[in-house]
Amino acid sequence: MKPKAVRGMNDILPQDSATWRYLESVVREVVQSYGYKEIRLPLLEYTELFQRSIGDETDIVAKEMYTFLDRNEESLTLRPEATASMVRAGITNGLLHNQRQKLWTAGPMFRYEKPQKGRYRQFHQFDVEAMGYPGPDVDAELIIMCARMWQRLELSRLTLEINSLGTPDSRVTYRAALLNYFSTVKSGLDEDSIRRLGKNPLRILDSKNPEMQELIEAAPVMLDYLDAESLAHFAGLRALLDAAEVPYTVNPRLVRGLDYYNLTVFEWVTDALGSQGAVCSGGRYDGLVEKLGGRSTPAIGWAMGIERLVALYEACGGEKQGEAPDVYIVAVGENALGRGFAVAESLRDGNSALRVDLNLGGGSFKSQLKRADKCGAAYAVILGDDEVARNEAGLKPLRTDEDQLSVPLDDLAKIIGERLAR
Ligand code: ATP
Ligand code: MG
Repeated sequence: MKPKAVRGMNDILPQDSATWRYLESVVREVVQSYGYKEIRLPLLEYTELFQRSIGDETDIVAKEMYTFLDRNEESLTLRPEATASMVRAGITNGLLHNQRQKLWTAGPMFRYEKPQKGRYRQFHQFDVEAMGYPGPDVDAELIIMCARMWQRLELSRLTLEINSLGTPDSRVTYRAALLNYFSTVKSGLDEDSIRRLGKNPLRILDSKNPEMQELIEAAPVMLDYLDAESLAHFAGLRALLDAAEVPYTVNPRLVRGLDYYNLTVFEWVTDALGSQGAVCSGGRYDGLVEKLGGRSTPAIGWAMGIERLVALYEACGGEKQGEAPDVYIVAVGENALGRGFAVAESLRDGNSALRVDLNLGGGSFKSQLKRADKCGAAYAVILGDDEVARNEAGLKPLRTDEDQLSVPLDDLAKIIGERLAR
């Protein structure tokens, strides 16, 4: 029986990994150009960290976590997202006290969801967090940073939605209004929502159940309950986005699936990927550091789904990145293979640093040339015993109709380098 991969967990195959790497490198370059520094975090944390930060009534904590007891009977969880771990690391390592941090991390996240296009059980995020900044300037910068990425990747079909979830104070009034509203329509609520009504009525707004959408549409919106501080923060963000000419729509229904958010929340969404349209989402979580045991520290961040970024890039006609070698060395004859190794090493050396595939496993001239063509190399370097005896190689362009030529081995790297640069 063939072994199976775990449901919802994908292999990223060689024909795709170069595109992944390209997109990840652009995102990384942009983020670094705003002064963000990398932090690498464990995939496992104590379960309690996520329960306390993300919230018991969220989908993630209620039904999506991969949680198990380790050999010491401690409850561990594969991280479903990175913010909680970032904050934990900030506190553990004393990075937050009287300091400001701009950090990024990237890697796999795990959620036990129903696998479908754009939704997996192991998926990948690029995650950016700014801690110690009260905003709204940093809120705007984090969003503008995304806009720069879309521009560099020539992604056109993304729109920005923003909302404010208010300060904790203003949320108290809003919560009461929601509780009141949902209580009057309680007979129409599903089981999840009835449970949430008692514990965390805000979470009802994040229900994915289509039958709940009509009731949710008619519910009071947070924007009508913002206090002066929340309004000022939101207006500040909008003014900065306007000044930077980053278009947005205010979506009063945007609540996000994690409990720790306050004030600014936002989502970059696309119509190009069907129902899994959120590509990058984020928000402010000013209370989280303190909640997890640190000194009160304002913070905001976003996370981008790499699978969805790749899919969007392809949907927007982005060029698939390849990993074809520059050169394939065809070596036929007694002395040719030994020389082939030396020539391959010299081409990989120093300034030229070419990508070189040396024919391995022998084969006729014809079959080796076939492999050269198939691997997508720009040039075949042909070494037969005759060429080797003359200290020369045949240089055969494989992607253009230029003629084959004879080149002294000493000049090979230089000539190939020049031709590739053209
Ligand atoms: P959704 O509403 O699609 O479930 P979310 O609000 O749960 O998304 P976040 O927790 O904010 O998502 O994660 C940030 C980003 O990670 C999302 O915008 C999305 O691009 C990506 N993402 C989240 N869950 C998955 C998943 N199961 N598979 C692939 N990508 C995901
Ligand atoms: Mg989700």
